[in-house]
Amino acid sequence: MKLLFDSEGKVNYDKIDKDTTVEDMLKAIDIFLNSNPLPCDDCEESCCKKAWSVEMDNICVNRISNWNDEAASDFVRQRLVKKRNYYREFDQFVLDKENNCHFITNENYCTIYEQRPIICRLYICIDKSFRYNVVRELIGSTYLQALIFEDEIRNKVLTEDLIKVYNRNPAVFAKGYDIALKDIFNYAEEEGWLYDDEIDEL
Ligand code: SF4
Ligand code: SF4
Repeated sequence: MKLLFDSEGKVNYDKIDKDTTVEDMLKAIDIFLNSNPLPCDDCEESCCKKAWSVEMDNICVNRISNWNDEAASDFVRQRLVKKRNYYREFDQFVLDKENNCHFITNENYCTIYEQRPIICRLYICIDKSFRYNVVRELIGSTYLQALIFEDEIRNKVLTEDLIKVYNRNPAVFAKGYDIALKDIFNYAEEEGWLYDDEIDEL
């Protein structure tokens, strides 16, 4: 997968193969932004210092917690709050903050840059194509929901049936972002987030 400007001047990708993973997309974004850097130095206010939510995913929390279940649970309790995702109708965790992200310094340096949330890695503040935005949102929703599910599996007494339902999400207890996009799309279809004919357009 490669990112490019399409004929409408929007950020788009060339194609998704059957084995293209989330990690491939993240690498494509990094390569694209290296060649097309965002104007952060001229930006009046860092996007990491705004009131909007910093949505947290399971891989980010597990990495920050060194893959320790207890530390991950403590991080969730101490640093995050639940917020409803009304678009997808599930709860997700966001940083418990007013304005500045907990991890931004006065010099606009992200102190968890290598482990930052996937929503930060997928963020490009210029016009993007519809299909790019759809893929970005589906990846984000899958990993955001995975944090809620992992937290409940760790800290609540759940029925076997509910655990099975949670484990259908391909990101639950994943070790990274190397999940095939087709698995994300299949899960999104099962969840009613994506219709079969829409997959063909991605
Ligand atoms: S990513 Fe975009 S919005 Fe954020 S600081 Fe850079 S230019 Fe500004
Ligand atoms: S985690 Fe890092 S990149 Fe993401 S909002 Fe916070 S400071 Fe910015």
